[in-house]
Amino acid sequence: MSQTAKSTPEETPAPYDVVIVGGGAAGLAAAVALGRSLRSVLVIDGGAQRNLPSDAAHNVLGREGIAPGDLVREGRAEAESYGVEFVDGTVSDARRDASGAGFTVDVHDGSIVAARRVILATGLVDVLPDIEGVRQAWGQGVLHCPYCHGYEVRGRRIGVIATAAPLAVHQALLFARLADRVTVFANGVDFDDEQRADLDVMEIGVVDGAVSRVHVDGREARAIEVGGERHDVDAVVVATRMVARTELYERLGGQSQEHPMGRMIPADENGATQVAGVWTAGNAADLAAMVAVAAGAGVKVGAFVNADLVADDVREARARAREG
Ligand SMILES: Cc1cc2nc3c(=O)[nH]c(=O)nc-3n(C[C@H](O)[C@H](O)[C@H](O)COP(=O)(O)OP(=O)(O)OC[C@H]3O[C@@H](n4cnc5c(N)ncnc54)[C@H](O)[C@@H]3O)c2cc1C
Repeated sequence: MSQTAKSTPEETPAPYDVVIVGGGAAGLAAAVALGRSLRSVLVIDGGAQRNLPSDAAHNVLGREGIAPGDLVREGRAEAESYGVEFVDGTVSDARRDASGAGFTVDVHDGSIVAARRVILATGLVDVLPDIEGVRQAWGQGVLHCPYCHGYEVRGRRIGVIATAAPLAVHQALLFARLADRVTVFANGVDFDDEQRADLDVMEIGVVDGAVSRVHVDGREARAIEVGGERHDVDAVVVATRMVARTELYERLGGQSQEHPMGRMIPADENGATQVAGVWTAGNAADLAAMVAVAAGAGVKVGAFVNADLVADDVREARARAREG
């Protein structure tokens, strides 16, 4: 972190043009776009990118199958090559500064930084079904997204553990395109006649009853247990509740938005939030965004934040011209 920008609470730090909270696909792409616009940018990242439990990221054009950690390392190096600075750590608080025009951001180590604009690229937390074995194999033998890892389990036996009827049917039908056999484990969820008929006609079986555990071998899933009986599978599919990290947005005066699949930061199509000067990109604002979509949103928000700062620069220059 630059010495001019990092300071103790008693000092007034020189502001960065932009502080980006979160260094996943969205935050890094925004950082590159802003760095290439010669903006002073600080990225503060807690290192909890959502797909780190997986070995590979798929549907990433030009980098198909890249390891998620490599993508972050390479994206960070690209941003650094344009002068972007990084801090490994977490932002504990953020608020509007005394002037009302900028922001003060508290970092976990007690230092504070100032920013003209803030981008919240804080991603989301996947709340997993509370079933033994699910967390252990999450991202390897336990999956959620047919576009991320469906191809890797093609021709295999897949068990979909239901948490809500429409979503379980949706996942089962998508995975059935790829799998040798898909079975839905109802786990207390009721399916109506239409849903049962859809599953039936696609030869997707339903096992009623509560799932007591997923049997795993390391990070691979081997079987789903219902009523003491083991059903062998090669992979398990679950739906997670996707809860965006909205705490900082709320601290800044924003209101997060409930979504049928979780919670998110509401924003317009360019990433502007309801709080002036606060922008967002990636899973924080779009629960369904995959890596390429999150990165695309990051580039876009970077461009729009740069344009917003240019508008500020023009206003200030005109005010100076009027004065002198
Ligand atoms: C198991 C799994 C596998 C996946 N596989 C694929 C795949 O193959 N292909 C694909 O396209 N998509 C995949 N995805 C989706 C992919 O993970 C997301 O699209 C992507 O991570 C979204 O990027 P993001 O930048 O919005 O958030 P993230 O990558 O999650 O990054 C958010 C970052 O913000 C940081 N952060 C949050 N709060 C703070 C704070 N207060 N202070 C500092 N830092 C903070 C976090 O530590 C984290 O590093 C997968 C998801 C999962 C769960």
